[in-house]
Amino acid sequence: RKPIIAIDGPAGVGKSTVTRLVALELGLTYLDTGAMYRALTWLVLQKGIPLDDEGAIAELVSDLHLELIPSVFPEQPMTIKINGEDVTEAIRTPEVTKNVSVISAQRYVRQGMLSQQHQYGKIGGIIVEGRDIGTKVFPDAELKIFLTASVQERAKRRSKDLIAQGQTNIELLQLEQDIGRRDYLDSHRAISPLLKAPDAIAIDTDGLTIHQVTEKIVQLYRE
Ligand code: C5P
Repeated sequence: RKPIIAIDGPAGVGKSTVTRLVALELGLTYLDTGAMYRALTWLVLQKGIPLDDEGAIAELVSDLHLELIPSVFPEQPMTIKINGEDVTEAIRTPEVTKNVSVISAQRYVRQGMLSQQHQYGKIGGIIVEGRDIGTKVFPDAELKIFLTASVQERAKRRSKDLIAQGQTNIELLQLEQDIGRRDYLDSHRAISPLLKAPDAIAIDTDGLTIHQVTEKIVQLYRE
C-alpha cells in the first residue's frame, strides 16, 4: 500500500486544518475520523435514542451507511453523509460536540468505525486525523504526529473559528471547560483512549502558526 500519515491530538488543537493543508501539499487524500463519530452522534440524537443505550446504538452501527467524500478543494472539509443524509454542517453543532465523547467510548461503536477506517487504509496514500490513529487504527503508519497545545490556546482558536462562523456571545471560560471535559473523557475511556503512540513525533503548537505546523509535518514526511 501507499504511505499513511497519522495525526492525533486533543480537541481544538488544529488537526483538521493542518491535515487538509498537508494533504494538499503532499497530494494525499485526507480522512477526518472525528467526523465519523460525530455523524453517528447526530443520528443517535436525531432518533432520540438515549446516549447510554449501548444495545440500540450497536444496532444502529451494524446497519450504518457512512459516506465520506473529500472535497475537490482539499482545504475544505469533506462531505459526510449518514444513511443518505448530508450532515456535513449538522455534525458541527455544540449539541453534537457535547455528546460525541460518550458515544465514541462505546465498544461496538469503535469496532464498527475501526473496520470502516481499515477499508480506507488498504490503498494508503492518506493522511488520517483522530485520537487513536497512531496507536490503534494504523499502528504501522509511516509517519505519526501528536499535536498538543494548552487548553487556553485551544479555546482561543475555537472562539476565533466560532466568531468567523458568525457566532456571538462566546464565553472563553466555558469553551475551556468544554474542551477540558472532552479531553478528559477521550483520554480516560477504556478502549483506544487518546494517547501519544511511543513512536509518534510530538509537536507543541503553542505559538506556532498553522502554516509552520504544516511545514514541519511536510518536512518530516520528506526526510
Ligand atoms: O476531532 P473531533 O473533535 O471532530 O472528534 C470528535 C470526537 O470523536 C472526539 O472528541 C472523540 O470523542 C471522538 N473521536 C474518537 N476517535 C477518533 C476521532 C474522534 O474517539 N479517532
